[in-house]
Amino acid sequence: MSLIDLKDIVAGYGGTPILNGVNMAIDASDIGVIVGPNGAGKSTTLKAIFGLLTVTAGTVTFDGQDVTNFEADRLVPMGLSFVPQEHNVFTAMSVHENFEMGAFVRRDDITESLDMVYEMFPDLKAKRRQPAGELSGGQRQMVAMGRALMSRPKLLMLDEPSAGLSPRYMMEIFEQVVKINAAGVGILMVEQNARQALAFATKGFVLTSGQNRFTGTGQELLDDP
Ligand code: ADP
Ligand code: ADP
Repeated sequence: MSLIDLKDIVAGYGGTPILNGVNMAIDASDIGVIVGPNGAGKSTTLKAIFGLLTVTAGTVTFDGQDVTNFEADRLVPMGLSFVPQEHNVFTAMSVHENFEMGAFVRRDDITESLDMVYEMFPDLKAKRRQPAGELSGGQRQMVAMGRALMSRPKLLMLDEPSAGLSPRYMMEIFEQVVKINAAGVGILMVEQNARQALAFATKGFVLTSGQNRFTGTGQELLDDP
């Protein structure tokens, strides 16, 4: 059984289905990348997994448990974390406070995790007392990812982490994604920069009109005419 399994997910907003049978399976060793045209339902897929809209048919299984329509308060403690595209940091709080907030589900000592996150994002160490809202877009994205890691997820979902970033920051973010995965965290992400992201995807998914076909690795998808 995979870390997360989506089976024939149907979901939408106010009765209009957007997802019409989405099927995906991701392991802790995987980087899953969802690509596809605007409006296909890529963001909606991540939101449906995270309980931000109602799944009306199909099942989401996470870590061996049926979590269909579970919300963040139950999913995050189980090891599922989500970095949405917008409002992904607390802008008035410092970098450090954002990281501490990310650990809200834990009762143990978070010092080691803080060290790990600052090691992963060294630029943020010098800025740790600055409000996250004062940072550049790329640095804010790193704060959002660091905050999500503080809950020690088994699976990290990212909605277009490179959106609006310069090519340099995009590559930096993608390198961090690969590093996070190498540390044992499964990744499921949506990306507009499909070519660059599929290059390192162990599983590539093309979503069109609320359905996906699984074709193999991202590279296989890139090679498929
Ligand atoms: P993608 O991420 O693939 O660009 P989305 O998942 O954001 O697409 O959107 C899929 C469809 O759902 C689009 O037609 C969009 O207009 C619609 N949609 C997205 N969010 C909402 C919402 N909050 N209420 C109603 N419709 C929405
Ligand atoms: P609220 O409406 O109170 O923010 P949510 O259901 O959105 O409730 O979130 C429940 C809890 O999960 C909150 O304490 C919130 O900080 C946390 N949370 C929400 N989204 C995320 C996320 N992407 N990663 C980690 N924790 C999150």
